[in-house]
Amino acid sequence: MSVIGSLIFCTDCGNLLRESTGDANAILHCTVCGARNNDTIPQTIVSESKPSAFPSALRAKRSAVQELSADDRKTEAIAEKQCVKCGRKEMFYTTVQLRSADEGSTVFYRCVCGHKETENN
Ligand SMILES: [Zn+2]
Ligand SMILES: [Zn+2]
Repeated sequence: MSVIGSLIFCTDCGNLLRESTGDANAILHCTVCGARNNDTIPQTIVSESKPSAFPSALRAKRSAVQELSADDRKTEAIAEKQCVKCGRKEMFYTTVQLRSADEGSTVFYRCVCGHKETENN
């Protein structure tokens, strides 16, 4: 499961600082406006639970072509996969373990144009 790193933005000017260090006490200096920003985002990430991390019998019965839920989107990563609809060379993807471990996982691809693909490993 790939997870996009937590990105920290300057609270004053909105400049992207860098990926979170995971240290809530760290101070990130903005290179644009010089503001000091607290590295606090990881705390909110940790507090969120992800339903798909705990496959239930109910979930296993769902179709493999289910729509991505809001929780699934949080763990989207970017894959070098060309969208057949708009030709864009990067698509977001999420891997979901739908059944038992020996049956592999399903990868959901999503393009910013709205195109979606599903791939079974
Ligand atoms: Zn700034
Ligand atoms: Zn597309």
